[in-house]
Amino acid sequence: MFDIELSKLLLEWYAVSGRELPWRVKSGPHPDPYVILVSEFMLQQTTVKTVIPYFHRFMQRFPSLSSLAEADLEEVYNYWQGLGYYTRARSLHTTAQMIVRDFGGHFPQTREEILKLKGIGTYTASSLLALAFNLPETVIDGNVIRVICRLYRFTAPIAEITALIRQKAEQLTDRTHAADYASAIMDLGALICTPKNPQCLICPWQKFCLSKNTPDIESIPVRSKPAKKEKTGRVYIIRDSQGRIFIRKRTEKGLLSGLYEFPWNENETQSPVCGSEDSHLQITHVFTHFKLTLKIFTLTTETGPDGGTFVAPQDMKNYAFSTLMKKVYQKYCSISH
Ligand code: SF4
Repeated sequence: MFDIELSKLLLEWYAVSGRELPWRVKSGPHPDPYVILVSEFMLQQTTVKTVIPYFHRFMQRFPSLSSLAEADLEEVYNYWQGLGYYTRARSLHTTAQMIVRDFGGHFPQTREEILKLKGIGTYTASSLLALAFNLPETVIDGNVIRVICRLYRFTAPIAEITALIRQKAEQLTDRTHAADYASAIMDLGALICTPKNPQCLICPWQKFCLSKNTPDIESIPVRSKPAKKEKTGRVYIIRDSQGRIFIRKRTEKGLLSGLYEFPWNENETQSPVCGSEDSHLQITHVFTHFKLTLKIFTLTTETGPDGGTFVAPQDMKNYAFSTLMKKVYQKYCSISH
C-alpha cells in the first residue's frame, strides 16, 4: 500500500512538473525507440543540459535508424564532436547497423537481445525497455539512488547496500506505467531531491520521507570517493616547412578511439622525441577516473611519424578531435599566432 501510494503521488507530480525534454513524451512510452536509443547513448556520462543541442543536431542529420546505419562513421563522429566519450558514437552506429541487419530494422524488445547490441549495458537496457516499450523495468541512476537513500534514510556507503537500494527501487516501480515512472523518479532527483538544497517542502514524497528537512540531508547518499588518479604526459605539435601540422587517427580501441590527435604519450618518464622543444605550455583535462596533464612540445620536420598526415591549419576543422586535443591546439595557437 505504502509503495503504491508513493508511486501514485510521484506520477501525479510528474504529470504537472516533470521536465519537457526533446526525447520524451509524457503519458506512456515514446513511439519511436530510435529516439530513446540516441538519447540514452548521449546521456551516458553527460548531463541533460549539455546533450540537448547535440541531440537536436544529430536527429536533424540522422532522423531514423536507417539513416544512421547507412551513414559514414566519420560523419557520425563529426556530429558527436564535443560530447566526449567517442566510443559511444561508434557503438551507437554499430548498434543501428545491427538492428537493421539482424532484426530487420525492428527494435528488439527483450533484455537478452538488447544486451547483445553494442555499447548497451544493464542500465541502458532497462531504460530502453521502460522508456520505449513500457516494460516493467526498474531504472537506477545516480538520481534514483539519492532519492531512495534519502526516502528510507540509508546512511551506509552505497557500495555496501546496492542490493537493498535495488530491492526498494523495484518495490516502488509502477509496473503498469514503467515509462512514466522511470522518467518521474529521475526528475524527482534532478529537480527536487537535488544533491544540494533539496526542496522537501514541495516534494511529493515529503509525507513519507525519513530524511525530510534533516540537517545532514546533503550527506546522503554516502559515497566513499577515491581520489582521482593523476597522470602526466607529452604531446607533440609537429610542423613542416609549409606550416602544416601533423595529425593522426587514433586506433580503434579504447578511450578517444577513432578521433584525430597529435602524437602524444601518457608517460613522462621517457626522453622527449629527439629535436623537439619544450614550449613550456601545458593543458590539464579531467576524465571520469583520472586527471591528465600534457606538456606541449614542438618540432619542425618534413617527415612525421608513421600513420598520419600533415594538414594545413585552415583545414583542421574538417577533422574530429577530442576535447583533450582541442585544448592542446587552442593552447598551442595562443603562442603561435
Ligand atoms: S522529502 Fe526531501 S529528502 Fe525526501 S525525497 Fe523529498 S526532497 Fe528528497
